[in-house]
Formats: sequence, C-alpha cells, structure tokens
Amino acid sequence: MAFFGGLHKQRTFKPRKDVPEGTKQYQLRKYAEATLGSGNLRQAVVLPEGEDLNEWLAVHTVDFFNHLNMLYGTVTEFCTPKECPVMSAGPRYEYLWEDGVTYKRPTKLSAPDYVDALMNWVQTLLDDENAFPHKIGVQFPKNFRDTVKTIVRRLFRVYAHLYSGHFEQICALGIEAHLNTSYRHFFLFINEFNLVDAKELAPLDELNDAILAEDNKTRR
Ligand code: ZN
Repeated sequence: MAFFGGLHKQRTFKPRKDVPEGTKQYQLRKYAEATLGSGNLRQAVVLPEGEDLNEWLAVHTVDFFNHLNMLYGTVTEFCTPKECPVMSAGPRYEYLWEDGVTYKRPTKLSAPDYVDALMNWVQTLLDDENAFPHKIGVQFPKNFRDTVKTIVRRLFRVYAHLYSGHFEQICALGIEAHLNTSYRHFFLFINEFNLVDAKELAPLDELNDAILAEDNKTRR
C-alpha cells in the first residue's frame, strides 16, 4: 500500500503472499474488497450466500494480519522496550506471551518483543498449508475455527496496544482514520462470527460500544 510507504519501518515479518488468482480464496477476497468499497462495513463482513465459512474466515484472517502488520509498522520507532517495557492495553491490562515452543510459560515481554513474537507466530500458522490450506479442494482441518479464534484474539491485543499506547503518535502521523477503519472492520468481523470472548475485548469496550451504536444507527 503506497500510503504507508514513507512511514513503514522495516519489520521482520513480511506480508503474506496473495492467494493466487483463480483460487477460491482469491475470488472471495475480490468479493470482500468490492463490498468494502461500497462503504458498508457491516454488510462487508457477512458471509456471502452459499460461500464456505472457513474460506471466509481464512481470507479475513490473512487480511487483518497484513493490515495490522502495516499499522504497527508505523509506530515501531515509538514502541521500544524503553517506552513500552510491558505489553499492555492501558494500565489495567497486561499481556504475557506463551506459545508452547519458545515460551513455554506465560512470559513478560516488552511490547515490541511481544508483538514480534505474536506476529511471527501468526505468520508461521498462515504459511502452514495444513493449518491454513489455500488449494482448492483441500479440506480445512477440524480445529480451523479454533485456530482462527486464537489468532484474532491475539491480534486484538495489538490493536488494543496501538490505541492505548500510541494513538497520539498515530494521529501525529495522520493515519488514525486508517487505524479506525481497520479496527472497525476487524471488530465487526469478530462480532459477526463470535470469535473473541467479550472479556478479552474489555480494553476497548468504549470504542466497541461506539462502533456497535453507530452500526445500529445506520441499519435503521
Ligand atoms: Zn508500544
């Protein structure tokens, strides 16, 4: 996305490659983009009639990951171990990292280290054909929905950290509208499919309520 070109700091994780043209997920992505373009985010997250829910979850998970990766990339010069010694979403919420591999127990990490571990963990899953099949006709694993739930629950924490720790800097960079649109899309999506428990979303309750209130208004 050219818009972020000048601001985007180098990150260790690269955006996931686009799904090849001609595949099912490619078509779904085009559909989702076209609906997004219509400006109705609530409509854009609804599963199109006759489409497969798993494919729909897969396409959006990849897109949210890529977008969040770009957004976080804009604040990496501010989100340092010194400025953000713990991964938090405001003073009341602190997150510990555990992935069962490198970190076998919940571990306190600085926000940049936490986000780095989180995004690398997601990318590894997205790149794993068994966890995230992209080929037509390949069955999704039985636990696919659970995998997606874990990913989006964790991605939420990055949004929450951006809002609670870096919103002023994001405003100074002039990209708050991008963060808001990205988060609104993400939140309406996880809300539509009940992917994240309400208590996990508590750090952004006010914002979430505002999004839902606005959404109800436009639906009337
Ligand atoms: Zn930070």
